[in-house]
Amino acid sequence: MFELNGKVALVTGANTGIGLETVITLAKQGADIIINYLHDEEKAEAALAKVKSYGVEAILIKADVSSMEQCKEMFEKIKEHFGKIDIVVNNAGITKDNLIIKMSEDDFDKVVNVNLKGVWNVCKIATKLMIKKRTGRIINMSSVVGFMGNAGQTNYATTKAGLIGLTKSLAKEVGIRNITVNAVAPGFIESLMTDVLGEDVKEYFKKNIPLGVLGKPEDIAKAVVFLASDEAKYITGQTIHVNGGLI
Ligand code: NAP
Repeated sequence: MFELNGKVALVTGANTGIGLETVITLAKQGADIIINYLHDEEKAEAALAKVKSYGVEAILIKADVSSMEQCKEMFEKIKEHFGKIDIVVNNAGITKDNLIIKMSEDDFDKVVNVNLKGVWNVCKIATKLMIKKRTGRIINMSSVVGFMGNAGQTNYATTKAGLIGLTKSLAKEVGIRNITVNAVAPGFIESLMTDVLGEDVKEYFKKNIPLGVLGKPEDIAKAVVFLASDEAKYITGQTIHVNGGLI
């Protein structure tokens, strides 16, 4: 089940958190891996060593997904090294939280550029390659916040809701070429992104999560691997909610 031998998978923002767990889980299923990251070289090197320990081929590519130019360079490197791309997981994401009356325009633009435009950039290039091969899997990392909203996150929630429209539209464009496009919407997951939340906020969410605990990156990675696998070949334009029952 979920066997990915011979597949090549790119995960953006894969040196830590959900992305790191995703590359590890894909590698365990036999996929060769491209680990994209932007800032933390040390974590990227550690992620590379971990992924390679599963006996797959893996490379690191430093690139800012919000830059179309850097995305093009990233895919040139992927083509040179692997000659194809089978699975793309658009996981890179940032937060810059504040109430709208205090949020700067720059903090709105930055979050939109990475979380939404970045996914569009990667999808635009990846689909071209996938269309030629008549096969592909794209998985976009949305969020529970895109569905329920969250005070202080008008920028972030906008991007995560927007990704659902992007996912559904692209699924309709490329379905005929045997490419599926789906989203995973995590709830509150233990990672650097949620480490910064106060204990009171974490307690509030735990009380409102029917399963009573925050999720772990591996909970998300498993849903991604399912969508990337042949077992999910008739699923497209959908969102899998992995949130302990929060919504
Ligand atoms: P995280 O630990 O903060 O990791 C974010 C990753 O994105 C890092 O690898 C970071 O790389 C990378 N990144 C940031 N800006 C980038 C850019 N411009 N270009 C390329 N890579 C970039 O976050 P996480 O919690 O694992 O979240 C991963 C995804 O899940 C995000 O899209 C997030 O919105 C979504 N999500 C998370 C939660 C949660 O509770 N944690 C819930 C719902 C959705 P560097 O460190 O090198 O900058």
